[in-house]
Amino acid sequence: MIVDRQGRRFRNLRLSLTAACNYACGYCVPDGKRLVAAQDELSADVLVRAVSYLIESAGIERLRITGGEPLVSPKLEGLLRGVSQLGLEDISLTSNGQLLARKLPLLVECGIRRLNISLDTLDPQRFREIARGGDLASVLEGLRLAREAGLKIKINMVPLRGQNLDQVMPMLDYCIDNGFELRFIELMRMGHLSHDYAGFKRQFVGLDELLEQISQHYQYTQAEAAVDATAIRYQIVGRGFFGVIANESVPFCRTCSRLRLSSTGWLHGCLSSTQRHFIGDLLNEPRHIALPALQRMLVRALADKQDMSFAGGTTVMKIIGG
Ligand code: SAM
Repeated sequence: MIVDRQGRRFRNLRLSLTAACNYACGYCVPDGKRLVAAQDELSADVLVRAVSYLIESAGIERLRITGGEPLVSPKLEGLLRGVSQLGLEDISLTSNGQLLARKLPLLVECGIRRLNISLDTLDPQRFREIARGGDLASVLEGLRLAREAGLKIKINMVPLRGQNLDQVMPMLDYCIDNGFELRFIELMRMGHLSHDYAGFKRQFVGLDELLEQISQHYQYTQAEAAVDATAIRYQIVGRGFFGVIANESVPFCRTCSRLRLSSTGWLHGCLSSTQRHFIGDLLNEPRHIALPALQRMLVRALADKQDMSFAGGTTVMKIIGG
């Protein structure tokens, strides 16, 4: 097991299945280009092998499949069937939910029980402006079916000044009424936003402002969360839970246990670091050659983690999946 001086280790793997996405959210995809897969994306079989090697060499226990948009990828079924055989403690999926209704039977069949669905507004017009693709009704229908199928669902919302701040309470009520846990994600200085600090500051909404808005409607108390959880969780008395992923306001770098793998075979030990490590070649090697080399690379990837504060980074979110 590789552990750093702060006691951090890689436990959670986020695997970006493809960089292609059917949305082009302004804060994630600067050029508005949808459905563009990265060149040289790895096949489902090779990605399954990567996960298997990382379980052995890094001690990965939990896998989150993300993208781009994982549900648009023809590799989804092969990947799900492969990783479901690897004995992981948990496999979950992050998606924008646009194709959820159609893909739900496959997800259920492959043992997916937990979903994070990204949804920034309940207003159809605003939805089109933010996502620049897809439609709200399909997402809501997918969510309804997933809830009926008994899946545990979290909703990711990025609050953006001037775009969806008035949606905070409608979204919270919708989630509570449907038994979903809402996660507000503070806007991160990633990709193009890392070069545009003024634009970032203009849109950014922080933890305090969010809590202030919610406190005008509900009483809440802080709730328990896992040591390496990304979100600060709150309980609204008698109603349900919500969380805030406060990268900027309360960075959680000290307890970060995440490792990211891009669809093209690059490992990222830290969102805030420009360092990345190519494992694509190693995946063609037999286990006894690949694993020691992978371990040396993982030591370097773990050293990329920041000590305590999230500073953003040039990596584009749709490449590594958030
Ligand atoms: N397509 C999937 C989805 O929509 O959930 C998975 C990929 S998407 C990059 C994962 C998450 O990253 C989404 O919840 C999205 O809102 C979030 N995200 C993207 N760029 C972000 C940024 N600059 N700051 C905060 N969250 C961001």
